[in-house]
Amino acid sequence: MGFNEKGRPVDDVLAELEAKRADDVRWEDGRTFGMIYDGGPSVHEAAERAARLYLHENALNTKAFPSLGQIQSEVVGWTAELLHGPESAAGFLTSGGTESILCSVLAARERARKERGIEAPEMIVAESAHAAFHKAAHLFGITVHKTPVKPDFKADVDAMSAHLGPNTILVVGSAPQYPQGVVDPIPQIAELAASVDANCHVDACMGGFVLPFVERLGREVPPWDFRVEGVHSISADIHKLGYAPKGVSVVLHRTKALRRHQTFVFDGWLGGFYASPNLQGTRSGLPMATAWAVMQHLGVEGYCDLTRTTLANADRMREGIAATPGVQVLGDGRYHLIAMSHDPDVLDGDGNPLDVFALGDALMARGWFHDRQGPPDTLHSTVSNTNTGVIEDYLKALAECVAEVRGVRTEDRSTNYATLE
Ligand SMILES: *Cc1c(COP(=O)(O)O)cnc(C)c1O
Repeated sequence: MGFNEKGRPVDDVLAELEAKRADDVRWEDGRTFGMIYDGGPSVHEAAERAARLYLHENALNTKAFPSLGQIQSEVVGWTAELLHGPESAAGFLTSGGTESILCSVLAARERARKERGIEAPEMIVAESAHAAFHKAAHLFGITVHKTPVKPDFKADVDAMSAHLGPNTILVVGSAPQYPQGVVDPIPQIAELAASVDANCHVDACMGGFVLPFVERLGREVPPWDFRVEGVHSISADIHKLGYAPKGVSVVLHRTKALRRHQTFVFDGWLGGFYASPNLQGTRSGLPMATAWAVMQHLGVEGYCDLTRTTLANADRMREGIAATPGVQVLGDGRYHLIAMSHDPDVLDGDGNPLDVFALGDALMARGWFHDRQGPPDTLHSTVSNTNTGVIEDYLKALAECVAEVRGVRTEDRSTNYATLE
C-alpha cells in the first residue's frame, strides 16, 4: 500500500488505526504480565489530560518552554528523594531505561577518560544485567566483561573482581535484575568499583519505583540506593511501575559534577551554541508532563497502595506456581518479577520435564501473555497493579495448561524480547 496522494477524513483515519489494534494483546483485561503498567482509571485520567496539554511542546529548548525545565527538575528531585540521594544529587529525564543506562555508561567512560586518562575502557556486568549495557558498550567502544551469576541468580562479586583492572571504568549492579527479579549485592559491587576509582551504576529501571515503597510497607529490602556509599548513578523508569505512559525514565548522579560527564555541548555550529542533556535532540514534552502529573496524582501514599496490590498479586502467583506440579519459580525474588521454569523432578511418561514454552503457547491461546526468556527456558512475569483481580483465574488456567501440554514440546525455541521490524 503506497502513501495516499489525497488526505483522508480524521474519522476514517482513526477508524483504521483502531482496527489495526485487533491482534494486539488485550492489556485492559489484566492478562498481560509486563510491558503495560496500569495504575487504574484516575491515573489514566491524570496522564491523558497532561498528555493533551503537552502533546505539541518541545523540551529541546527550555528557554522557550520553561515549564518543561521545571517539570524535569521537579520529577528528578522527587525521584532523588525517594532514592535517598544527597543534596548534591542531580539527574535528567530520558526516554526510557535504555537511554538512562546509555547516559550513565557514557558518564562513567567520560569521567575515567578525563580524571584517569583511560583510553581503552572496560566495564564489568553480570550476565543478568540488562542488554542495554551491551548496547552502550557497542555504541561507546567499551570492552565488556560479562560474569556468571551465582546459583541464586545474584551477581557473583568474586567473579566480577577477577576482571577488575586499571582500565575498569564501570561496575554494574541491578536492583532488581530483570530475568529473575533478585537484587544484586550492591554494597560489595560499589566497594569493588571504588577500589579502582571506577563508577558504580545501579540499574533500578524495574525497582526504582517499587523498592522505596516496599521498604515503607515494612518488607525487607537489601541496601541498593544512594545510601550505599560508592554508588555513582542510578536509573529508574517512571514508565514501568511509576505508572506513567511510555517514554520516561530518570538517570540520577550523586553529584552535579558527575552528571556533567553525560552532557554534550558544541559551540562551533552556524546554528549557535548547542547543548543536550541526554541522547535526544528535539524532545517531546508529553512523557515528561505525564510523569509529573501521575507522580503528583499518586503521591507516596498512592504508590504505597499500588505496591501493596502488586506484592499481593506477585506473592499469590508465586504461591500458586509453587503449588502446581510440573512448574517452579526460579530464584528467591520477593518483589514483582517472577521467572517460571519446569520442575526437573516432575517427568512425563517419556521421562521429559514440562516444556514451559509449550505452556506459554497454551496460556497465550487463552489470552495470558508472558515473555519467554532464557537460558534457562522460563516464562517471565512482571507483575503489577495491572493484574489485580485476575490471579486466581490465571492459576486455574495455569493448572489446565500444564495438564494440556504434558508430553508436548514446541518447535519454536525463540526468546524474542524485542523485534527488529
Ligand atoms: C526495562 C529495563 C531496562 C530497559 O528499559 P527500557 O525502558 O526498556 O529501555 C533496563 N534494566 C532493567 C532491569 C529493566 O527492567
